[in-house]
Amino acid sequence: MPADTATGSMAPAQTSHIRLTSHASGYGALPIRWAAATAAERGPVVGTTTKRSHRNVIGTHSGSYSIYRALAVASGGLSPQHKADLTNTMPTDVIGPYPQWSEPGRIVAMDPWGATVADVFSAELAAGYDIRPTIAVTQAHVILPEVIEALQSGRLKADGKFLTAGGAAMVTKVAVEPVWYLPEVAKRFGCTEAELRRVLFEETGGMYPELVTRSDLEVFLPPIGGLTAYIFGNPRDLANPEVELTARVHDECNGSDVFGSDICTCRPYLTHAIEECIQGAQRGGVGLVSYFRKEGRALGEVTKFLVYNARKRQVGGDTADQYFNRTECVAGVQDMRFQELMPDVLNWLGIRKIHRLVSMSNMKYDAITRAGIEVVQRVNIPEHMIPADAQVEMDAKMAAGYFTPGAVPDAEELKKAKGRGLTE
Ligand SMILES: [Zn+2]
Repeated sequence: MPADTATGSMAPAQTSHIRLTSHASGYGALPIRWAAATAAERGPVVGTTTKRSHRNVIGTHSGSYSIYRALAVASGGLSPQHKADLTNTMPTDVIGPYPQWSEPGRIVAMDPWGATVADVFSAELAAGYDIRPTIAVTQAHVILPEVIEALQSGRLKADGKFLTAGGAAMVTKVAVEPVWYLPEVAKRFGCTEAELRRVLFEETGGMYPELVTRSDLEVFLPPIGGLTAYIFGNPRDLANPEVELTARVHDECNGSDVFGSDICTCRPYLTHAIEECIQGAQRGGVGLVSYFRKEGRALGEVTKFLVYNARKRQVGGDTADQYFNRTECVAGVQDMRFQELMPDVLNWLGIRKIHRLVSMSNMKYDAITRAGIEVVQRVNIPEHMIPADAQVEMDAKMAAGYFTPGAVPDAEELKKAKGRGLTE
């Protein structure tokens, strides 16, 4: 790996952080020193397509939407030279900086400075670098029928501060796009950086040749979905271990989350977590729901629906003992969500302690505690909230190691068909 390029973390420290022409090769790209203590030392992530010599990463911003952007340019609707006007786009709440931002290996899959580029890299922006935020922080009222029902049944009380009389929860929401520091991402997955780069290159059909040709570029903007964090209460309290934190880390499930499909527990557990978060904030605590775009265990919805059919058509019907097998038959693996990168957003928010983790997943729990965050209590989904067709999933997961305060189903129990047939 060349140590003399301005883009690698091996570049020597310099006193000034503006280097228009200091690149050894004269390109003008600014160096990135991942996990440096300050934004000035770290340097901006520049994924622009307009001035290629300024690029210091592989990939482009909003990677999962880059094809739409290409279509907009191809159809003449978007100028390829367009530069974002960031006037008034700054975060509504200050997040960090927190010690975790510069603790080695703590944050490897997002840019801690991604929300404040207009502020911390104002000099570089003024010097003509096209630096885009990879994080945006705003305010919202979120209105969910389950929360209104909880209000009507007296489980929740309106206070006009966290929850309005009409059932709107007041939140701070944070959208995060992935920014991967490849050497540390490789470590999380127990492979070498070279292996990771080669496999990323091959499995994307050669989409990003720089993965294998530019080892000096160590930051990758992957073309995958990001996450959204919903914060109930004061975001600053997340970093205070004395303040009770209720949190759920939720992986996207469009069928249940949005359309109410009853084959899994996703939406009921999500809305239960939101209810817990509102109650927690009203007790003087703070709540967090982090929503990751990893549809269908990151296998995608086509695979997910194929698995549903395979489960329901198998001899003996839909049983918990075959639940993971059917996914593995179709996808080759049981799950591709890989919780290894999930805790980064928790560390970015300064979290050291989660008092109430609204999740039964042992994989999420293990990842969070491995990331240096203490978990005091795990909150399971209440029995009555498990939808009719979702008991198969629940039994299979509990048998596989998911947290439950109740009895773990035995082998006989797992063999009983509990899922609905396809035509029922
Ligand atoms: Zn689901």
